Amino acid sequence: MFYYCARCASVENINVKAGSVKSCTVCGHVMEPVPAEYLMPNGTFFKSGEERERLILNIKATDTYDETIGNAKEEIKKQKEKEEQEHINIVNQKMRENQFKLTCPICGSSNIQKISTVGKYAKVYAFGLLGADSLGKRWKCNVCGSKF
Ligand SMILES: [Zn+2]
Ligand SMILES: [Zn+2]
Repeated sequence: MFYYCARCASVENINVKAGSVKSCTVCGHVMEPVPAEYLMPNGTFFKSGEERERLILNIKATDTYDETIGNAKEEIKKQKEKEEQEHINIVNQKMRENQFKLTCPICGSSNIQKISTVGKYAKVYAFGLLGADSLGKRWKCNVCGSKF
């Protein structure tokens, strides 16, 4: 679905859940669906590049449009993308580090052991649902006994 921002004239093709609100990635203004008159009948494409330009011109003609943000939006978008990429890199880096030095999330001890899959399933078999909380947990802390 195409959405537009009335403040900076940013147009995005995004999925928005019914009833939820999408705010502009550039300026945070609440985005509105692009009116059907600009789009192909199925709504997945603009009728043409000219129609897209016409929408943007119409947005710019309203009082809501903020020229300062509008003119800077490509810069702002690039900056946000860069920040997001950096954030992803940091998260990836942390995940890589955690794989090599796992610690207990409860007490912080690195004295942990892998729970054997065989034991896990044997327990579920023996205790039925009572043992199900261990499913999906692969590590056990030897200090405080918590599983994670
Ligand atoms: Zn905006
Ligand atoms: Zn622990």
